[in-house]
Amino acid sequence: MIKIKPLTIVVTGGLGFIGSRFIKFVYENTHHNIINIDKRTYAADTARIPEDIREDESRYCYVKVDICEDITKYQEVYEADYLVNFAAESHVDNSIEDGEPFITTNVMGVYNLLELFKDAPNLRRFVQISTDEVYGDMADLRGTQYATESFPLKPSSYYSASKASADLLVQSAARTFGIPYLITRTCNNYGPGQDPEKFLPKIAKCIQEGGTVPVYGDGEQVREWMFVDENVEIIHGLMTTAPQDNIYNIGTGYTYTNNEVVGMISKALNKEVKYEYVPDRLGHDRRYALDCEKVSKKLFGWGTFIHRSLEDYIQNTYSPQMVQAHIP
Ligand code: NAD
Repeated sequence: MIKIKPLTIVVTGGLGFIGSRFIKFVYENTHHNIINIDKRTYAADTARIPEDIREDESRYCYVKVDICEDITKYQEVYEADYLVNFAAESHVDNSIEDGEPFITTNVMGVYNLLELFKDAPNLRRFVQISTDEVYGDMADLRGTQYATESFPLKPSSYYSASKASADLLVQSAARTFGIPYLITRTCNNYGPGQDPEKFLPKIAKCIQEGGTVPVYGDGEQVREWMFVDENVEIIHGLMTTAPQDNIYNIGTGYTYTNNEVVGMISKALNKEVKYEYVPDRLGHDRRYALDCEKVSKKLFGWGTFIHRSLEDYIQNTYSPQMVQAHIP
């Protein structure tokens, strides 16, 4: 029998919300080895990695280290086949309070990874996980225009500017040093294990406890939503099948205003909302809108991808009988 040698995938930020689901997907659907590099900031949670994976030393290894340090001092990391970078400061509100950690991790950290891996012997892809926020506010386009991958980058916050900077660094490292890259720009993700500071769990907690629900501005900001496990499956598919040096938008077409999402959670919980409209977030973008034709064409080869609707997820997750498990 022919034995296929397992590949090594280094996942940075693998104790975070999306990175941990990516690890779960790779572990359950491939025979590859996974090295999880995570500094363990406030946003990390070891429990996001299922126990059976954590205990499988033959395929999974966690290293507590910052992406700004020399992670290639570990030989297996330097010789990895894929590097998938989820590590980031990811909460826009925090970047308004203090932008420095965002520049350190999201810009300097990515620069450091590129420098460390530019001559790596086996690297098939440097995968940089980016965001729809790099295109900036699409509201001035009156809701009729969608950003393709070549749309100008016009970030509005230190968070999105740091992510846009990282995208540019990756592209320049490909041009100068030949690093083979994939960049994915994803809309808002939802799903199990999301940090309590993020929109869905935060609103659900407020409504459940009968407190007031803080909504920025008039609450009519439009966001596109995707179930996290769909995102990680697509990232993995692109990483292994897409031609190198490509950017893909990843979205669903499911867009909702923040008011609509609050309404859905209230309906699922069967509780009234006490709205408190608070002054708008500084620099708050009104609308994000991804043109996903490129990824749809690529996905076509895998069959038709059925996106899960946010409404169904909220209804199932926050129904009164499910609530204990999902509200922190
Ligand atoms: P998260 O905040 O839940 O997790 C980030 C992880 O990175 C944490 O485990 C943290 O400990 C780790 N980390 C932070 N700084 C580090 C450093 N210097 N060195 C090593 N590890 C470090 O983030 P998330 O929601 O899982 O997002 C993952 C990626 O996806 C981010 O790059 C984010 O920009 C992008 N993204 C997220 C969303 C979303 O809806 N959550 C949407 C689009 C794009």
